[in-house]
Amino acid sequence: MVALGFLLTFASALVAAVGKAVSWAYERADSKVCPQCGETVRRRAAICRFCKYTFPDVPPPP
Ligand SMILES: [Zn+2]
Repeated sequence: MVALGFLLTFASALVAAVGKAVSWAYERADSKVCPQCGETVRRRAAICRFCKYTFPDVPPPP
């Protein structure tokens, strides 16, 4: 059954690609770009981890 093996390989590749796309979209939704250095940091970050830029729009933790 060569066709079945091909189908399984194709299916697993498809699942891997979809999983990668979902995690990429999730990361994009949960991140922002630092206006000072241009690096991508987490949306909730108050300070850029690359250049120590302080984001003015992040509310202080309770
Ligand atoms: Zn930065």
